[in-house]
Amino acid sequence: MRAKKRFGQNFLKNPNIVQEMIQSVLESKPESLLEIGPGRGALTSSFLDAGVHTTAIEIDRDLIAYLTKKFQNKSWDLIAQDVLTVDLTQLNHAKKLDVIVGNLPYNISTPFLIKYRDEIPTVPGLFLVQKEVALRLSADPGSKDYGRLSVMMQQSFDIKMLFHVAPENFDPQPQVQSTFIRCTPHDRHLILPELFEPIVRESFCHRRKMLKKSLSTFNIDFLKANVDPTRRPETLSIKEFIELANHSVRQDNLDA
Ligand code: SAM
Repeated sequence: MRAKKRFGQNFLKNPNIVQEMIQSVLESKPESLLEIGPGRGALTSSFLDAGVHTTAIEIDRDLIAYLTKKFQNKSWDLIAQDVLTVDLTQLNHAKKLDVIVGNLPYNISTPFLIKYRDEIPTVPGLFLVQKEVALRLSADPGSKDYGRLSVMMQQSFDIKMLFHVAPENFDPQPQVQSTFIRCTPHDRHLILPELFEPIVRESFCHRRKMLKKSLSTFNIDFLKANVDPTRRPETLSIKEFIELANHSVRQDNLDA
């Protein structure tokens, strides 16, 4: 079966890498697991062999037919759908997920990760992503990779890069390096979650501008938030973004 570029198909072909990933996933002894994009089942077969109740979401009809046949005697659930349209909150209620895993298709990794954060931020995740995305996800304030994705994801998770995977471990070979990451949920206090996302988005839309300029449509008490309004967004910690959200009112709410 030929790999389809439009579905970001780069199948893992090195059993040692697969084994290393499986070990990291099974470390916490999960009973219920969700896999994004099982592909030809490189990871899935180990989860099923280990007796983990596995639910997988796959978009490619040819692979769905292939997997259904391959694992016909196994007890698992395959959802034939675009993961970006699946209600993950509802799925988690039904399945009581212990972990979510995937060698993510590169073309949807960022929207998927934001969806994961928005819908099931209490579930640990282990993902193979482009190295460049892993660097952005785990970046510290002040670094060139620090941006909206770093802040949004780190507000919900501690993100650790576990190991890098070179292109020759995939079929077909991608152009870039990949990195296996672990997202561990944490509970960072957030009083006004609805303002956090727009504040982070607006701040990084104008990376070179001072906060008082880029956030002029929010009524922010910078003094109470203890953040200097002349700073630029890439210098702020996650905690400082949270403080901004907690000491702000949208201008349009005030006018109403
Ligand atoms: N897990 C397999 C492996 O490691 O060899 C395949 C990984 S491959 C990088 C990505 C997989 O995600 C493919 O099977 C692809 O068809 C599937 N996929 C791509 N876009 C998807 C989407 N929007 N929803 C669900 N699955 C998707």
